This record gives sequence, structure tokens and C-alpha cells, in this order.
Amino acid sequence: MAELHELTIHEAASGLRAGEFSSEELTRAVLDRIERVEPRVQAYIAVDADRALAMAREADERLRAEGESAPALCGIPLALKDNLCTTDFPTTCASKILRDFRPPYDAHVVERLRAAGAVLLGKTNMDEFAMGSSTENSGLHPTANPWDLERIPGGSSGGSAAAVAACEALGALGSDTGGSIRQPAALCGVVGMKPTYGRVSRYGLVAFGSSLDQIGPITRDVEDCAILLDAISGHDERDSTSAPVDVPDFRSFLNQDVRGMKIGIPKEYFAEGMDAEVARAMDESRTAFESLGAELVDVSLPHTDYAVATYYLVATAEASSNLARYDGAQYGHRAEGTENIIDMFSRTRREGFGDEVKRRIMLGTYVLSAGFYDAYYLKALKVRTLIKRDFERAYEKVDAILTPTSPTPAFRKGEKMDDPLHMYLSDIYTISTNLAGIPGVSVPAAVSTDGLPIGLQLMAPNFEEGRLLRAAHAFEREAQVHATLARL
Ligand code: GLN
Repeated sequence: MAELHELTIHEAASGLRAGEFSSEELTRAVLDRIERVEPRVQAYIAVDADRALAMAREADERLRAEGESAPALCGIPLALKDNLCTTDFPTTCASKILRDFRPPYDAHVVERLRAAGAVLLGKTNMDEFAMGSSTENSGLHPTANPWDLERIPGGSSGGSAAAVAACEALGALGSDTGGSIRQPAALCGVVGMKPTYGRVSRYGLVAFGSSLDQIGPITRDVEDCAILLDAISGHDERDSTSAPVDVPDFRSFLNQDVRGMKIGIPKEYFAEGMDAEVARAMDESRTAFESLGAELVDVSLPHTDYAVATYYLVATAEASSNLARYDGAQYGHRAEGTENIIDMFSRTRREGFGDEVKRRIMLGTYVLSAGFYDAYYLKALKVRTLIKRDFERAYEKVDAILTPTSPTPAFRKGEKMDDPLHMYLSDIYTISTNLAGIPGVSVPAAVSTDGLPIGLQLMAPNFEEGRLLRAAHAFEREAQVHATLARL
């Protein structure tokens, strides 16, 4: 049998119910694992072993009392990206400006996990304020890819993806503004889903690009993704963009076949810049879907070329406005010995923010300024509408769309740090779903000859996460992409 820390959420949930082990034992096993591998992976910003064990003991009591009817996540040790507000941990966004910030409330998703009896292990590392694709922009420390410690885990939810891949948590939550759940999931060989915009309440998620941000699960398999999604979805009136739509039982979409499902292959995504091994993995994935009875259909998303530019206008504009609140006046870092309030604002921000965050604030402020607003920001919003229409048109012909998640497997640390544009281009396949609002999932598709994971992405129309789970689960069973992790 697998060791306790290696179990999936659903395996652990049945073990707990069958009395094979307690949540305390399971949590201890994961904490031991963290102690062993964390010096090399550095997935976490904060872990609180005592608190986790106390939560585990409470979960054990609840499991004893409620038995089979206890929620699926009861007693399951999970990790949270450090931009989700928690009352019992600081919430830093991996930024020096929020280093000691302790929120007075829990994020909606954190409340949900607590209510389900989950064990919260700690907060995971990320690119500062979720800006980046490698977790190298963390203002605290970098995180390593568990498959190859010299490589990046992806970003910005790199800590969450690395923790799940390295068995330092059974599952985790991340946030995705332009790919930050799906890309690190792909690069770490795990499953990551960005739900439809509005599916999960953003209450208590520290805002980056408010019209793009979504919270979602990072797990070791598709069934676990459904379980976590079940727990966090649904309307919440504290987030006015949270959608008042019904939440289906996401697990009911598992174990169904994909016969007759029409899957679109957008020609623009298979044009240039794709690593040869990623291209081969995509060929194999197409074959796998065909052998499962899906019908592959060529589609076109003609405005794909403009997606990166559009995203970096919209996201930076929103970020410049969202990050205006960090000025030292109310919380977070405050520069010392300043002469007046303007000096305090500017020195606090200069000292507290890292280079990438400053770059984005400057870009965003520029595109929103009088004289440039129409030429950049307004134009970007128009292109965003065109991108959305591309998808609507494609979904008239197909049920879902298949693409790679990332143009390359995990790159080496430092490889793209001097060239922001190069880094931005690694988001090419993931940002359109955020611009359009639709859901997307990344599933392990292959392992490269260097032993690095490669992910595929499936996208679906709004609120069709169930369809994604159905296709992803069928693929997972067919492709059996199991590989051993780098020795840790
Ligand atoms: N990598 C993208 C960026 O740097 C996406 C980040 C995210 O989804 N949070 O903005």
C-alpha cells in the first residue's frame, strides 16, 4: 500500500471511514514528509504543525460521530496559497509589504474548508501578488520543482502545485488570473482547474486582476479535483460577481465515457513556439481521446494572437488599482522615519514591492492614464470581447477544446528572469480562458525524455466544469500517466 502521505484525497477519505488510520496519523505522516523534503522544495511560507494536529483530532471526533455522512474533506490535510485570507496564519502574498499581515477574517473558501472539517496545514509560496509564472518573483524565497530541483515549479501557485506533487499536502487551493493554477499543475505533474469566473467566491482572495481572478483546486487526480471543487463552489453574496447558479454534484461526472463528445483543436494553438516533446504529447493525447470515442474537430480562435497583449493591459490596469491600497497607512509594512505622508507612501511602496510588481503597477497606471486610456485599456477591452466571441463561436461546433497547458515543460531557475516578455509568453495557452471567463483544467498528459511532466488543457463553455471533469477523468484512466517523482 502507498504510504499515508502519498494517498489521494478520495483514498484517504475511504481509509479514514474504514478506520484504517486516523486523521491525526494521516496529518502526522504529511507533517513528517514536510519536515523531510521541505528544505529542498520550499513549497510553504508557513506551516503550523500543532494547529494542524489539533484540527485533525477534531476531525477524528467528527468522523466518529458522523461516520459515512461526514463531509468528504473531513480530516484531509490541505494547503492554501498565501493570497487567501486566513485568521490563524499571516497572509503575505509572498510580499514584503504584507509580511506580518494577519487578516481579521477568513476567505469564503477557507470558511468552506473549515466547515467541511479539512485540516489546514499552512500557506504556500507564490509569485508576489500572483504576478509571475515561475514563483521566482516571491519576495520571500523561491520554490523548487519536485521533479527536478534545479527547475521552477511554475507559477504563480508554484508552492501549492509543488506541495501536492511532493506529497506535502493531499491537495491545495490556488488562484488563477492568467494560468496560475493550470500552468504550475502542468509543470509539477498534477491536476489543476480554473473554474468559471463567478463559480467560486473571491471573498477574501487578495485581488490582483479582479475581472480575471478565480480560486480553484490543485490535486493529484481528477476525482480529487471534483471533491475540492464541490466544497468551494457556490454563490456567496459577499462577492458581487459570484454567480447565483446551481452547483451540480461534480463527482457525478466521473466514470462516464466521452463517446460522441466533440473536442475542438484550435489551429492557432498549434502554430509555433511549442516544444517538440509537448507537440508529441499533444499528438498522443488526441489519439487517446479518439480511441475513447471522442470526435476531434478543427476549430479556429482567430484572436489568439492578441491574447497575451490584451491580458497584460487588462491585468496590469486592474492590478495598479487594486494595489493602490498598500501604502503603509492601514496595514502591512510602513517605512520608518519618513518626512511627510507622501514620503511615507512612496518609501513604503518602494521598500515593500518587488521589481515585477512595480513593473506591473507602472504599466497599469500608464494604460489607465488620460490620453492613453482609449488607445490601450479601452482597446484591450474590445479585443477581450472578440476573444470571448471566438470561444462562443467555437462552442457552437464543439463541446470542449483541447490544447497544451504550457508551451514547454518546467524551465530552469533563472532562465527567464532577465526577460519579462519571454516569461509572459509562457502564459500563451492559459490566459484566453481568463479573458473569456470560461473554465479550464490541466491534466498530466506525458512525461518528457528528461523526466519532466507535460500537461494538457481542456476548456469548456461557462459553468460546464462537469464536462471538463468527465473528459479529464476519461483521459486520466486511458493515458495512465503515472511516473515516479524525483527522489526526494
Ligand atoms: N503568469 C501570469 C501573470 O504573470 C498569470 C498569473 C496568474 O494567473 N496569477 O500575470
